[in-house]
Amino acid sequence: MSKYLIVANWKMNPLRQSDAYVLASRVEDGYLKFGKNVDVVICPPFPYIAVVSTAVKKIKYGAQNTFWAEKGAYTGEVSPAQLRDIGATHVILGHSERRIHLGETDEMVNKKVRAALDHGLSTILCIGESEREDGEIPAIVGEELVSALAGVKKQLLKNLIVCYEPVWAISTGKNARPDTPDSAFRAVLFIRKIITGLYDRKTADLLRIIYGGSVRKDNLYGFLTEGKMQGALVGGAGLDADEFTGIIEIASRAR
Ligand code: PEP
Repeated sequence: MSKYLIVANWKMNPLRQSDAYVLASRVEDGYLKFGKNVDVVICPPFPYIAVVSTAVKKIKYGAQNTFWAEKGAYTGEVSPAQLRDIGATHVILGHSERRIHLGETDEMVNKKVRAALDHGLSTILCIGESEREDGEIPAIVGEELVSALAGVKKQLLKNLIVCYEPVWAISTGKNARPDTPDSAFRAVLFIRKIITGLYDRKTADLLRIIYGGSVRKDNLYGFLTEGKMQGALVGGAGLDADEFTGIIEIASRAR
């Protein structure tokens, strides 16, 4: 079984590159101390990718977005080829903050996913519902997954990581609360069933699925064990070096 994957999504934080350097260095120290048995990725804002790349040696770094074209007249965009060129290995796509607040459509997410996978980036595709009415995983989760993968060839799925991230569980939301490991496990089954339908059972079994939404060191273990998640996307707690090191330690010991 592959190692757990722990990804820090720094969002639009911190405010100074010196702080980005210190935080990344402390995460690297935590990894060296506790994390040998886990894969750790930091996704800082674009301007700080360079400084993070100088602060880390063992852990990887990535971006929180990319564009679908390779180069050209696209003011303000950053291409997958450019991310590869600076050593980024991962990219987060389809985050709800981009879908809901910045107008990113399913079609845009699909184009980005295809471009990122074509360029060999490990692509963390976020899907998740805004509201949960009963215990069932809502259909929108499947719809986001199916549309994001339209036209994606099976052999590229080895670089895909699906992040089930219910919007209501993200820590910055009003009344946010983490999902339960039991419901996270149902999301894993739900996602694998859809991938089986789109591709086949073997591809579905091999797909890496991680959980996002208010992950802390004191709730991660349940998501990895009972929830059968293969890692976590961590927002707020990723900005606290001690808490994030605790998360790395838990993931390392849980395997
Ligand atoms: C996120 O928004 O990707 C996220 C995981 O945030 P948090 O951990 O703060 O809920």
